[in-house]
Amino acid sequence: MKIRYFDNAATTKVKEEVLEEMFPYFLEQYGNPSSMYFLGREAKRALEKARKRVSDLINCKPQEIYFTSCGSESDNTAIKGIAYKNKDIGKHIITSKIEHPAVLHTCQALEKDGFEVTYLNVDKYGFINLEELENSIKKDTILISIMFANNEIGTIEQIEEISKIAKNHNIIFHTDAVQACGNIDIDVEKLGIDMLSLSGHKLNAPKGVGALYVKEGIEFQKFMDGGHQEKNKRGGTENVAEIVGLGKASELAKNNLKQHQEHLKTLRDYYIKNIEEKLPDAKLNGPRENRLPGNANFSFPGINGEELLIHLDERGICASAGSACTTGTTNPSHVLVAIGLDKNLTKGALRVSFGDENTLEDVDFLVDSLVEIINKMKEKNN
Ligand SMILES: *Cc1c(COP(=O)(O)O)cnc(C)c1O
Repeated sequence: MKIRYFDNAATTKVKEEVLEEMFPYFLEQYGNPSSMYFLGREAKRALEKARKRVSDLINCKPQEIYFTSCGSESDNTAIKGIAYKNKDIGKHIITSKIEHPAVLHTCQALEKDGFEVTYLNVDKYGFINLEELENSIKKDTILISIMFANNEIGTIEQIEEISKIAKNHNIIFHTDAVQACGNIDIDVEKLGIDMLSLSGHKLNAPKGVGALYVKEGIEFQKFMDGGHQEKNKRGGTENVAEIVGLGKASELAKNNLKQHQEHLKTLRDYYIKNIEEKLPDAKLNGPRENRLPGNANFSFPGINGEELLIHLDERGICASAGSACTTGTTNPSHVLVAIGLDKNLTKGALRVSFGDENTLEDVDFLVDSLVEIINKMKEKNN
């Protein structure tokens, strides 16, 4: 059976060119970047080349990039790192209700440790309200962390405006840009971003490597004690091969951004148009403008999303439901709840996220399958 993969927001396939650049760092250039001899120096050189490439993707200085093990570690390092460094200045953090668990659960952990967190509401499209943000700032606010783009409904937040508000109040601004990097043109200097998280496996590099951008001059508490790696901020021998992969993937993402965006938008808009024509009671979640190019999320009223996924799986289709299933109980997605969907709609949500390898023919297959499966499920329900 042909596998059709529409879950690029969950993870992406490693690009062939990325893997090829990684290979020598396993069998030939396997040195430790901290070693003084030739092999070590070669590994160090590869590390710094990757750092430059990642910095080029978001337009920062190479020395402002810290390599981590994943997007979650970058989020943890940014939020806890600022919180603990500044705990004597203030203990208030502002974030939103639709953040990834890597941010939400980090903030919840800080709350247990005496910090205070404001979780901003979002409107029915997933946008935070700038006035509410401004009004929630207090004398002791030390950090604003708002995601660049939402992983479930694709909403691209007003990053430049948010960063201006943070700047006006002298508050550090962090953004989880794991979904945005490689899909949106990001210039941290122009946007005024102080800290940014990204992850390799969301942009065609392997799983288990990420990066955190920290603007020069911003102090944060180190996340991992150990050796002096990453300017003494993260102990642990660097994951050289994967970092090389992240560097290559960043270079490819930068060079191919326009075509990549156009391709994804074409597939997304074709999918949305067809679903709205053929399944008229489907409700699009998230905005029509300012939306990630590859993201489409529909709620199908009266349909059980988990069941729908199983039927899609039988046809080789990989997609995602708007809920997290934990041992038999289905919890509605916190994002879909935050945009005000009722239970009937949170239950029947389906996220598809397109990638470079998808074609219009794949989308036809997806739409035809959905129409068939959903109509059958509805018949059974009646
Ligand atoms: C995937 C994802 C993360 C976590 O990244 P990992 O590398 O899997 O830890 C964080 N934030 C968002 C928005 C994501 O989509």
